[in-house]
Amino acid sequence: MRPRCAVSIDLDGIACYYRIHGLGAHPAELEHVILERALPRAAKLFAEKGLRVTWFVVGRDVDWQAHVRDGAARAANADRLAKLHARGDELGNHSYTHPYDLARLSADTVAEEIASCDRVLRAITKRAVHGFRAPGYDVSPAMLDALAQRGYRYDSSVFPAPGYYAAKAAVMAALAVLRRPSGAVLTNPKLLAAPSEPYRPAMSAPWRRGQAPLVELPIAVTPWTRIPAIGTSLLVAPEAIRRRVIAAMAQRPFFNFELHGIDFADAEKDGIPGELVAHQPDLRIPIAEKLARMSAILDELKATWECVTLGEVAAAVQLAH
Ligand SMILES: [Zn+2]
Repeated sequence: MRPRCAVSIDLDGIACYYRIHGLGAHPAELEHVILERALPRAAKLFAEKGLRVTWFVVGRDVDWQAHVRDGAARAANADRLAKLHARGDELGNHSYTHPYDLARLSADTVAEEIASCDRVLRAITKRAVHGFRAPGYDVSPAMLDALAQRGYRYDSSVFPAPGYYAAKAAVMAALAVLRRPSGAVLTNPKLLAAPSEPYRPAMSAPWRRGQAPLVELPIAVTPWTRIPAIGTSLLVAPEAIRRRVIAAMAQRPFFNFELHGIDFADAEKDGIPGELVAHQPDLRIPIAEKLARMSAILDELKATWECVTLGEVAAAVQLAH
């Protein structure tokens, strides 16, 4: 059997990046730029490649019922996702408001964030939701509880990449010195030593193997060195490194390839201000070049791996473990 690959794309709005980089409030007119401008580019590329993917959705961005403000924009976002679901893509839960500190909030808040996003996604697809990804890669026992109660098949938040963690800690420390604190939160370091292949976690300790009814599908890191194999890092890496990381992933039976909506944004065409571009190297690459690189990456994936959705991988892992 060929190894399996699942491509997923987290639809974090531009506000998330303003928060991470401590830039204050984002320009209001860019509230929906990722879903309105970047998502269609991503969807077009996936369709050309014949790829079905998993979209991790922040519930509030597509909740056309609960918001008076921007109702039309949110309805249009929901409509885009409905069309993707109709063609075979999966919609996953990425919380309702994307709080980076969700793992540190009360169990009630966690349950509500998950339930509210779940409600909106079910209204769009008329189907049960199977998967969740925590904001900021930080999964907690309260999240597993809420997911298990809703009958979810999988969580896909564990990102066992110590190098990424160290880089994030350094940036956060630098911003603190500049008195411009980052809205990001350091993940529980125990997650860095979590298994890097799919596993059934312990309900009380998601970073360890156990007996949970749902499975954990960790985000891709290379074997041994645990270098992140995610879209944003591969897009900015020199071609030789990109090839080496992908070749290393071929040693794994499963490649959980994570992208972000912003990977498909174009600073100039989408009107993203220089203050954010200064902090996001990927935004300095024109969209034509990013699409060409992404297209080459996806061709390589398709040549080596059988590409399925995370929900399908989770169903198989549940049977096997
Ligand atoms: Zn996110």
